[in-house]
Amino acid sequence: MLRNKSVEEYIDRVAELISDARNIGVFTGAGISTESGIPDFRSEDGLWNRYNPEEFTYDKFLASPEVRRKQWVVLREGSLTREAKPNDAHYAIAELHRRGKLDCVITQNIDGLHQKSGVPDEKVFELHGNMKRAVCLKCGRRYTIEQVKQKLANGEDAPMCDECRDILKPDVVLFGEALPVKTLEEAARRAQTCDLFMVIGSSLVVYPAAYIPNYARQAAATIVVINLTPTYIDDFAEVVISEKAGETMNKVIQKVL
Ligand code: NAD
Repeated sequence: MLRNKSVEEYIDRVAELISDARNIGVFTGAGISTESGIPDFRSEDGLWNRYNPEEFTYDKFLASPEVRRKQWVVLREGSLTREAKPNDAHYAIAELHRRGKLDCVITQNIDGLHQKSGVPDEKVFELHGNMKRAVCLKCGRRYTIEQVKQKLANGEDAPMCDECRDILKPDVVLFGEALPVKTLEEAARRAQTCDLFMVIGSSLVVYPAAYIPNYARQAAATIVVINLTPTYIDDFAEVVISEKAGETMNKVIQKVL
């Protein structure tokens, strides 16, 4: 474990670990996208300081058209459905893929920025879904967020499926809703096969997703954490860098051999 060194020394060590690694797993949370202009949940200017999380439960979404209307208004105006660009942290991870070192990205994010930065879809495990889609709860038909926005613009304030007129839900896991089982299982399995596991921009407090880095630890992967605030996995990490992910990963990737 590297402790009490300068940030530059930590960065050198992470670059060294990446150079030596063959199978890197990356676990990301909302913190990796704050430098792309998307607020996280729990920081000072995070979403939960502006909205009440209790309004965003699955049960409430199903129970009342009024809540669905409210949620779509927030989503329509929210940063998650606006065009955002990947930042240096996303691009550095995509570079790991280009260099043949990336096994997978396991993300709690719903913003699609890993794919946008160049990581292929099949390497991205979206534990909480993707905000760029909506899904019909009855027939399963998927809609793009642009199609939903068009419906909202046409005055359909709680959009329904064109085919079966059932409820359209953002294709994300709402509070109280189960995670996609296959994605979760495969992510857990992949975490156990990595030699290096990097946690970037997550408070690691939302379960079961937050348990994934622990699988990597139990399987003896070297753990690296890049996060502004402490997490439960820090004690088991070879390196912990409490700096911005984009700035840090940009420096790291330039030093990787
Ligand atoms: P979180 O808000 O709980 O934690 C974010 C963490 O990132 C914090 O510990 C914070 O200190 C750190 N952080 C913030 N900016 C950073 C930066 N520039 N560099 C490094 N670290 C930074 O988010 P979470 O752990 O992902 O869990 C909460 C839920 O948030 C997830 O379920 C996810 O679906 C949802 N969410 C996603 C997005 C998105 O898709 N971009 C945005 C908001 C919330």
